[in-house]
This record gives sequence, structure tokens and C-alpha cells, in this order.
Amino acid sequence: MEIKESLLMPKTNFEMRGNLNKKEPILVDKWNKEKVYEKMNEEGKLGEYALHDGPPYANGAMHCGHMLNRILKDFVVRYKNMSGYRTPFVFGWDTHGLPIENMVTKSGVNRKTTPIFDFRELCKEYALKQVERQKSDIRRLGCLGDYDNPYLTLLPEFEAREIENFATLAEKGLIYKGLKPVYWSPSSESALAEAEIEYHDVKAYTVYVAFSVKDGKNIVPNDASLVIWTTTPWTLPANLAICANPKFVYGVFATNIGKLVFLSDLKDQIVEKLSLTQCDLLEEFKGKELEGVICKHPFYDRDSVVILGDYVTADSGTGLVHIAPGHGEDDYLVCLKYGIKPYCPVDEHGKMTEDCGPRLAGLFYEDANAEVLKILEENHVLLKEEDIVHSYPHDWRTHKPVIFRATPQWFCSIEPIREDLISAIHGVKWEPAWGETRMVNMIKDRNDWCISRQRAWGVPIPIIYCEDGTPIVEKKVFDHFVQLVRENGSNIWYKLSEKELLPEGYTNKHSPNGIFRKETDIMDVWFDSGSSWNGVLVERGIKYPADLYLEGSDQYRGWFNSSLILSLAVNGVAPYKQVVSHGFVMDEHWEKMSKSAGNGIDPLKIINIYGADVCRLWAALIDYQQDVRISEPIVKTISDQYRKIRNTFKFLLGNLSNGSLEDSFKETDKQTELETVDNYILARLEQVKNSFIDNMNNFNFINAVSDVLKFMSDDLSSFYLDITKDILYCDDKNSTRRKQVQTVLNELLFTLMRLLNPILPFTMDEVNSNYPLRSENNVQFYAYPEKTNKYSRELLEELSFLKDFRNDVLKTLEEARTSGVIGSSQEARVTVSLLGDTTKKIIEDIGEEEIALILIVSSVDFVVDLDGGNEGKVCKVKVTKHDGIKCDRCWNYFEPNDITEINGAHLCPRCQKILK
Ligand SMILES: [Zn+2]
Repeated sequence: MEIKESLLMPKTNFEMRGNLNKKEPILVDKWNKEKVYEKMNEEGKLGEYALHDGPPYANGAMHCGHMLNRILKDFVVRYKNMSGYRTPFVFGWDTHGLPIENMVTKSGVNRKTTPIFDFRELCKEYALKQVERQKSDIRRLGCLGDYDNPYLTLLPEFEAREIENFATLAEKGLIYKGLKPVYWSPSSESALAEAEIEYHDVKAYTVYVAFSVKDGKNIVPNDASLVIWTTTPWTLPANLAICANPKFVYGVFATNIGKLVFLSDLKDQIVEKLSLTQCDLLEEFKGKELEGVICKHPFYDRDSVVILGDYVTADSGTGLVHIAPGHGEDDYLVCLKYGIKPYCPVDEHGKMTEDCGPRLAGLFYEDANAEVLKILEENHVLLKEEDIVHSYPHDWRTHKPVIFRATPQWFCSIEPIREDLISAIHGVKWEPAWGETRMVNMIKDRNDWCISRQRAWGVPIPIIYCEDGTPIVEKKVFDHFVQLVRENGSNIWYKLSEKELLPEGYTNKHSPNGIFRKETDIMDVWFDSGSSWNGVLVERGIKYPADLYLEGSDQYRGWFNSSLILSLAVNGVAPYKQVVSHGFVMDEHWEKMSKSAGNGIDPLKIINIYGADVCRLWAALIDYQQDVRISEPIVKTISDQYRKIRNTFKFLLGNLSNGSLEDSFKETDKQTELETVDNYILARLEQVKNSFIDNMNNFNFINAVSDVLKFMSDDLSSFYLDITKDILYCDDKNSTRRKQVQTVLNELLFTLMRLLNPILPFTMDEVNSNYPLRSENNVQFYAYPEKTNKYSRELLEELSFLKDFRNDVLKTLEEARTSGVIGSSQEARVTVSLLGDTTKKIIEDIGEEEIALILIVSSVDFVVDLDGGNEGKVCKVKVTKHDGIKCDRCWNYFEPNDITEINGAHLCPRCQKILK
């Protein structure tokens, strides 16, 4: 036999190069055919673990934020499933709403001439196409879940459950219709939710306006004027009051332009702003004394009364606030106390109504600013005008400014359930922990939820009005409609007449002539998605409350919020037991990615270069709870890490291929039969495994995977796999020592493969396909490693000493190599004196021969006190060249007596025996 052929070199079909972009799509198909998701959920000895998917919007391609979200969820689903749980995971999509309407309109459909029923069918068609497209992107990431039966907010059964939620709330008295200023987008002609608002800087006119006193109530002289300041002159036609802070001190000042009233503390600023040449304090009084003073509206024949509010601040303006309850939230609330009703002379297009008089009627509100200024000037009440730039709310979809506008809307009351919501938040586990505070603050500050939208594509608000306008809130009416929707979908609302939508023979005393009218508003999409616990978990018999919601941190005000409100209002419980949030994905320079900035990164492009598993490793190695970065160079560094993992598995697989594994390694507990160094590595493996499991349970993927990477490089690649090469390659196939090492390699491989499967499922599938002891077709079907306590802590401490010892020797060997004393380390004869008793004991336990193998040197001599040599951490080391003969097979050096020459080759006793 040739020497070369006699060596047991690693053999495996597991390739060094990943070629993930080619292999992964094939595995996606394989998993689909093998029905991996269905099979893995056939049983769950620990019961069910429900991670409920938050529905992304069904429009556009997958972006990096979606990718991160999908991958993190898949880590959890795969992990929990292998750990023994059934893990039903139903992908969801948010399929109603304005963006889809806009896309359909853009495609050439005229919304005004198309019947609403048909228009909605087109929206549905568009949404379904988008869902299919996004689904294939998710599959490419390797995510497991129910692709065949995703939940869509447009599905009849989902809509039926949502209407059920509305009905329950209405019956509980938590739904009401009111006139209220809400964010109104003239560009979308619709009310907007807080979550649909973004802020941009815009130029604004700011004006100081004098309101002359009509009745000073013996506090304010009747020839004085109150000075207000506003950044929205177009709201002055809707002015009904002026608000003062009851605790502040106000003054009447004699000025060159007459007597003016404002906050005393602001005198200097106001003198400067209004360029006053004279300003003398005449008298002062507390704000609360101003209550009830009557002023004249600056240009209408109407009163404006002084009211009080604590929210008035002293940092800008005049300390007197112009109040238009139809155009502002605070204004509305403070007026509520005084019984002043919202007044809104601006229509849905954002144009001033007839009420504003001939000069303003018909003007777009922004254009009305200039005309209002003119009118103020003509009435000699404009004290100052200047332009400033300030942050102003905009429509997140059209990016155009929005206004506050009082309109009839449907609301969900928050106040009656606010305390319950807050205590429910405290009962949920939040990760990161600040999520709890954030959520409590969100709920504390949250006003009643405006749930109506004046659009076409959504779930209709299921209200039918009687002849006199009374809305029908009756269980049997709702039940009837819920049934209709379950059978036909919500488009039935637009197909059937009012009579057909009501139960047969329905009468109502408010409709003596049997005439009814249906509501035309639809529901806020957050009411859709916030109903998913009912439309999916309850509907499909999945665990409710769910174990986990896992979404981006924007969902504290979005889906986490709306889901909590609806679940608590209907059933008195939070819909989730735990919430985990992740940050946003930014570009390399921490800039937000956007189409307009041109810095968007297409995840599919990255996947097609590096592979989904590299992207998954990226997701595991970032601190996802913060905002994170992605770029091609970043993914490239991750792919280097990936290669290390791949190489480790390649080594393990390659060295399991020779030998009769089946017979030798059935037993897992081989501690007593193994050498000390083997047990060290198995003890480390146990430690890594246990902490990996703890980290997975805490969603701490970065620590889990970093530990494994460190283990692979420090303990395997530079230690155990290095020192066992001689045994694996040169020992006899059936030598006990080789089998012992293979036992360890098998344990390493089988454990690491299962540990890493939730993170790198494609690669682990490839590992498993090449694993000689494979017993399942997919790693997903193996049980997850469990935490164990087989090995003592002492073993780990000893390992650490041994590694220190080895490092000391390797340092000296390296020096000897550099200075030419030796060529390879096998040529070295090492003399060592140990510095500490602990080290001595460990080394003695292992034995001199084994130590030489661990150091990969020809011999080690231990002396009590070494003369000269390098002093390291735990020993003193001296290296000399072995003057013996090199074995041509294993390359170790031996005394001439031990070497035999056969056919011109020098062989050591071991190698000689094997070649025989
Ligand atoms: Zn040899």
C-alpha cells in the first residue's frame, strides 16, 4: 500500500464553497415538496407556541426591514418547534387601504365613474397579486409557515370577525359618532390616523393679531386689545375664543399703538417683535381673572370669549392663545369644558366654505392665509407678520401637509378602558424592557381613536341609520350582517340595499316609513390589523392570547397598540403574553433608506450574491433591538464569518466518513471511555449548548451565535481539531483513540447542526444530507438539544489551564521557527517546567505522551526548574531541535532505533504496523 493512500484524509461531498445562491432555491422547493412545515407541526409534546404574524402592507417589494422581521420570526418558529412545541405560523397581509386604491387609480381606473362594488373588486385583485409576490420573497429567505392559507384582512372570515369586534364595542358603548377635529389630509380627502402622520419643516406665516375688548368685566379696560399669536392665519375665521393660563400674570400696557394685553413676562420680546416705541405697565392681574372677558372677532361681527387652560405656555407668542375648536385638538378639549362646539368652515378639499364670507369662500386653506392677512391689515388689527420655518404634520403617503378639521367621525373611546389597558401592559413581558414604558406612555397620551375613513377600499362601518338619523346598534342586526359577510365578503354591503342588509322584517320606531340609510365610511386599517387576534387566532383555533408578537419598533403606536385596545375592549385581555421589537434597518452611513435618496438596498440582490443564510447570519449577529445597518461590505464581512462555520462542518463531516460509526457511537455517554482532552471539549460543548439555549429563549441571537463562533475558532479550529489531526489521519481506522475522537466529532456535529438550524437552515440541511448518521430528512425534524449538566465546572477550568499552557508553548515554538531552530513544530523537542501546582496536576493527569500530541511536537520533557527558556503564563519553555528521524508517513520525529526503513521510506512503529 502506498503511504499516501494509507492516510485517512477527510472525505465528504459537503463543498467548501457555499454557492448558496444556486443551492438555496433548490432547497426551498425541496422543503415545499417534503411539506416540512406541515410535518413539523404534526405533534408538539410541549403543546403550542403561537407567534402571531403582524401583517405587512400588501404593496411593493420586500425591503430590508421586512427581511429582518421575517428572519427573526423564523428563528423563533424553527427554534420553538424543534424544542417540542407545535408552532402554527400563519403569514398575514394587510390588504385594505388608500395605497392600494391609489395604485388601482394609477393603473387607469377612474374611481368616480367606476361603481364602488367593481372598484373594490379591482383593489382586491391588485392586493392578491401583491401578496403572491411578497410570498415568494419570504420563501426565498427560508422561512417556514402556512403559505397555502395565509391570513388576509380582505378574507370574508377575517372581515366577519372584525365586524364582530366593532359590534361588541358598539354594544358596550365604546363606539360613538362625534364631531371632532382630526388629522385631515386634503390631498387624500380623508381623515388620517396618528400613525399616518409624518413631520416636515415648512414655511409658515406667523401673525400677531389684536382682539379689541368688547366687555372687560371691570378687569380689562374696554379700550384695550388682547394680543394673540398664531402660525395658521387661515384658522382665524374659525376663532371662537382666546385662552389664558389661569396661573400666569398678565398686564395691560400703554403703547404707542394703544392699550395692549399680554403676558407680563414676555414684555421685552413683544416690544421688540412689534417694534413698540412706548410700553408702560398700567396694571396686572392673574390669568384666572380674565375668564369671561369678551372680545370682538378681528373681522367678523362675532364675539370671542376668554377661557382658561393650563396647557398655555409662556415660551413663545403672547401667553394668549387663539382658539379654533374645529381646527385643533387642544382647542377642542378646552372648549369642551366651556360647552363651545367645534366649528369648521373648511370643506373636505381643504377649501374655505361660504361661511367665511365672499372674500375667502372657495380659497384653498393655504391660499387663504394671504387673504386673511389683507383683511386683518384693512381692519388695523395686524400688529406684525413674519415668516418662520416650523415642523408641521404631513400625510405619510402623499407627503402633503395635513390640517386639523372637525368632521363627523366614528370613535372608539379610550378613557373608560385606559386604566385597564395600562395594567394589561404591565402584565405583558416586553423585550427590550423599555417597550413597557413606551407602551404605557402611548396609552396614557392616546385620545379617542378615530376609526372611520372616507374611502372605498376597506371594511364598511356596519351602521345603518334610521329615517331620523338614529344609528342602529342592535345585536341581532350586527349578527345578521356578520353572517352575510362571512358568506359573501364585505363587498355585500355595497351590493345589497339597506332592507336586504337588515334582518328580514326588521322595523324600527325611528323609521316609521321603513326608510333606512347605510353608512358610507369604512374602517381605519389599524382596526383591520388590530382585529387579527380574532380574525386569525380565535378564528383558526390558535392559542390566544398569543405567546409572542415580534415587530419593528414603529408598531408600539401601530399594531401592538391597536391590537391591545381591541382585544382588551372585547375580551378584557391583552392579545399577547410577550412583545419583542426590533429597530430600523439603515444604510451603511446610518441614513434611512428611501427611494428618493437612492440609497435603498434590495435584499433580493444581496441574497442572490451571498445567499439567504448569510443574510440570516447577519440578522443573528446584529443588535437587532437597536437600529441596525446593512450594506454590501457589511454582508461581505458576515460571509467571512459564515465561511468559518462552513469550514468547521466540512472538517467534522470529512472525518466522520472513515470508520464504522454505526457500531461505535450509538451511546452518547462515553465520558469514562474518553481521554481527558476529549471530555474537556465535550464539557465546553455542553457549556456552549446550554448558553445557546438560554440565549435563544431570551431572543438574544447575537450572544448565542457569537458564542458558537468563538467556540469554533478558539476551541475547535485552533485547539481540538488541530491536535486530533494526527490521530484522525494517521491512526489505524479502527484504533480506539481514533474512535474516541470520532465520537467527539460526532457529538460536536450533531449538537451544533441542531443548535444552528433555526439560524442557518439551508446550510444545516446540506450538512445533514452529508451526515453519515442522518436519521431525519430535515434537521427541523430532530429534537433540539436540551440543557444538560453532565460535566463538572472543574473540567472547564482545567481546559482553560491547558489552553494557557499550550499557548505558552506555541509562542516559544513560533519563535524557534522564526529563528530557524526548527522547521515544523513536529521537529521540536520541548522542555518545560510548570509554574503552578494546578497546572502540574492537570498535566500529570493527561500524561506526557498525550501532551506531546496536544502540542504537536515530537517530545516533551518536564523538569523541575528549567534553566533559561521563556517564561509564559503557566510554564517556562525551551525548544530544541529533535535530532531523530522523520517518519515519512506521519511526519513526526523519532529516535533512530524506533525507525524502520521499508522500500526507502522511514516509518515509525505505528505507521509501519498500519502499512503492513
Ligand atoms: Zn509515523
